[in-house]
Amino acid sequence: MSKLSNQQWQDRKQASIARGQGNVYPVYVDRALNSEVWDVEGNRYIDFGTGIAVCNTGHSHPKVVAAVSEQLSRFSHSCVMVNPYPEAIALAERLCEIAPGDSDKKAIFVTTGAEAVENCIKIARAHTGRRGVIAFNGGFHGRTNLAMGLTGKIAPYKNLFGPFPGDIYHAPFPIDCHQVTIEESLNALNNLFKVAIAPSDTAAIIVEPVQGEGGFYQAPVQFLQALRDLCDDHGIVLIADEIQTGFGRTGAMFSCQHAAVEPDLITMAKGIAGGFPIAAVVGKSAIMDAPLPGGLGGTYAASPIGCSAALAVLDVIAEENLVERANFIGDTFNEHLSLLQQQYPQLILQVRNQGAMIAIELIKNGDAKQANVELTQKIIAHAAQHGLILLACGFYGNVIRFLPALTISNEIMNEGLNDFVRLFHKLAS
Ligand code: PMP
Repeated sequence: MSKLSNQQWQDRKQASIARGQGNVYPVYVDRALNSEVWDVEGNRYIDFGTGIAVCNTGHSHPKVVAAVSEQLSRFSHSCVMVNPYPEAIALAERLCEIAPGDSDKKAIFVTTGAEAVENCIKIARAHTGRRGVIAFNGGFHGRTNLAMGLTGKIAPYKNLFGPFPGDIYHAPFPIDCHQVTIEESLNALNNLFKVAIAPSDTAAIIVEPVQGEGGFYQAPVQFLQALRDLCDDHGIVLIADEIQTGFGRTGAMFSCQHAAVEPDLITMAKGIAGGFPIAAVVGKSAIMDAPLPGGLGGTYAASPIGCSAALAVLDVIAEENLVERANFIGDTFNEHLSLLQQQYPQLILQVRNQGAMIAIELIKNGDAKQANVELTQKIIAHAAQHGLILLACGFYGNVIRFLPALTISNEIMNEGLNDFVRLFHKLAS
C-alpha cells in the first residue's frame, strides 16, 4: 500500500467510512509487537489500550502467530455447524475447565461479544420459559439490538437507535465514590420486582463484575454474592458479562472469582484469542442445553483460526503466569497514579484497579459530582503526541482507563507510566 501520512489516511477514512464508526486517534497502525505500536509514519507508541482489552497477551505473541499460521496452512473455515474440527472441541473443553465453579459446564461459540450476550439471553429464556431481563445503569453489553437494549447508557450507544426490545429493566449499579450503596441497588431490584416484572417472569440478571465502558467500577463482593442469592431464590439465571474482564485481566482468570461467585452463564470474548474474532458462552450444562439443536450458532462461530489462537492464548497465560502478572502490573500503576492523586486531589477523585484493569476518575474542584470531561478529552487527545495510546470511558466520560498487555515488560510499563505522569502535569496545570 502506498505511503501516506496519518492525516491523509484520516481524510480518506472520513470520506469512505460513515461517521458513526469513529476512531479515537488519527493514528494508522503499520505494525505492532507486544506493547508497542508503530504508525504509517514510523512513530512509535506504547499501547495502554490493547485494542480495548483484547491483546492481553500482547500484539502478535510469537506462540499465537505460530498457532494461527499452522492452522491457516491446513484450513481456515468449514463452519463448525457443518463439519466441526478438533480445535473447537479442545477449546470448549479448556473453557469449561477454567470457568469459575464446580458445576458441569458446556460452551457455545459465536463471533463477537454482543453475540455472546444475545445468546446468553436466548439460553436463559429457553431454560426458564420467562421473558424479563434485568441489567444495570451504566452497563455496556454491545451494539446489536438486544445488547443495546441491555446497555445502560444512552449516548452514544442508544441515541437515535430505538425502538429497543421489550422486557428489559435497569437497576442502579453500586458505586461507592458516587454514593450509590449496595443496599440502594438491592432495594431498587426488589422494587423492580414489585412495579415492573415479577421475579417469576424474570429470566436473567446480567452484570459486569467490573463495569468496563461504564467506568471501571467494581461490583462489590457482597453485591455479587447478593445477586447470586437473589437468583437462586427465584430461579433466575445469573449472567456474568466478562467480555472485558476475562482472561487474566483482573488478576484472576475471571473477575467473578474474586467474589467466589459461580455465575450460571459467562460471556467470553476480547482477550480470549489475542485479536482474532471469536467469542463464547460458557455455563452450567443443564442451562446451556435448553435451546434445541440448531437454535444457536453462526457462520463464523468457532472460527478455526480463532480456536487455534485461543488455545495458544490459554497456553501463554499459563506459561507466563499472566494472571499473577496482572496483579503486579495493577499494583505498579496504582502506586504511580496514587502519587499523582496526592498531588492533584482536586482533579483526581479516585484511582482504582482490579488487577490490570486500571482507571483514574477526573473531576473539578474536588467535587465528585463535577465530571472533568474536558481534561479527560485533552489528555486522551494529546496522549498520542506523547507516544501513548490511552482510552477514556465512564458514564460521564471522565475516566481514563489503562489496559496494558499482561506481557508488557517492566521497562516499557515504567516508560509509559512516566510519559503519562509528565503529560498529566503538563495538561493539568
Ligand atoms: N460486553 C462488554 C462488557 C464489553 O466490554 C463489550 C465490548 N466493549 C461488549 C459486551 C461487546 O463486545 P463486542 O464489541 O465484541 O460485540
